[in-house]
Amino acid sequence: MQCDKCDAEAVMHAAYSGLHLCADHFTRSVEKRVRRRIREDGLVPDDATPADPVTWVIGLSGGKDSVVLTQILHDTFAKDPRIELVALSIHEGIEGYRDRSLEACEELTAELGVRHETVSYAEEFGVRMDEVAEEDPENMAPCAYCGVFRRDVLSRYAERFDADLMLTGHNLDDEAETALMNVLEGDVEQVAKHFDASLGPLEERTEQDHHVPRAKPLRDVPEKEVALYAQLEDLPAHITECPHAEEAFRGEIQRLMLDLEEDHPGTRHSIMAGYEELAALAADAYGDGRQEHGECERCGAPTGRDICRKCALVEALEESA
Ligand code: SF4
Ligand SMILES: [Zn+2]
Ligand SMILES: [Zn+2]
Repeated sequence: MQCDKCDAEAVMHAAYSGLHLCADHFTRSVEKRVRRRIREDGLVPDDATPADPVTWVIGLSGGKDSVVLTQILHDTFAKDPRIELVALSIHEGIEGYRDRSLEACEELTAELGVRHETVSYAEEFGVRMDEVAEEDPENMAPCAYCGVFRRDVLSRYAERFDADLMLTGHNLDDEAETALMNVLEGDVEQVAKHFDASLGPLEERTEQDHHVPRAKPLRDVPEKEVALYAQLEDLPAHITECPHAEEAFRGEIQRLMLDLEEDHPGTRHSIMAGYEELAALAADAYGDGRQEHGECERCGAPTGRDICRKCALVEALEESA
């Protein structure tokens, strides 16, 4: 099959748009979507100057999504003195898995000349995910612990680096799954939070007191296209799955979404279009009355309770050890 834009051989067919694209036109279309998202979300502030640059921290796991994000951000902003990029990797303590994905992170950042920092759950909380999965004092999936720890590390280090923005590699499939999960769980407040945390254009979000704002510039690009981009650009991405991955509900939603997409191409895009509108309305309706104004007695993190969720989990783990 031939590329719809030139005479070269097509490497992909996107059922949702009907387009066949060659390697060159495909990679350019991915980059274009990422840059348009950065523009539409207003991520580069008007008042950033070379003398007063902004710092963007990229959550770099070494998987294809964050590797592609880092590469494209570097290609777009390496020569822009208003933006400073820092890649942040997390070592969860997962034997044989994270070590190799961290190698991918190091290889990529060394090649691009991007500053790279690594932090570990062991140093931060005195826990390793392999042990957490084994002890499991709260009777939860490993990812439930891991997600709480990750959010804590990312937000604290984003503050430590004086970051203006925290960017992650979530793709269209990830976001559409989260959207569908929130809707199926009937959790409208979560939808509102999603808008203020990462979905809305920066200036339309309700200020998150202690939180560095998040952004997901890959969220218009389907997962398969992110993978193809990594492959065509020969990026050092690590592909094995984490041995503890078992987010049961998300797995079901994932399969449902892939089936829907196959029968009705464009489903992910339309879910997100409608959901974004809803999320904006929900965020508006909730206003800013739902911020967490208290501080954790143990670590000082913002929380509505006496101690934050992360400290509660660390305590439970300490007790069960
Ligand atoms: S799959 Fe779950 S346990 Fe593994 S790194 Fe991701 S969140 Fe953590
Ligand atoms: Zn072409
Ligand atoms: Zn705490």
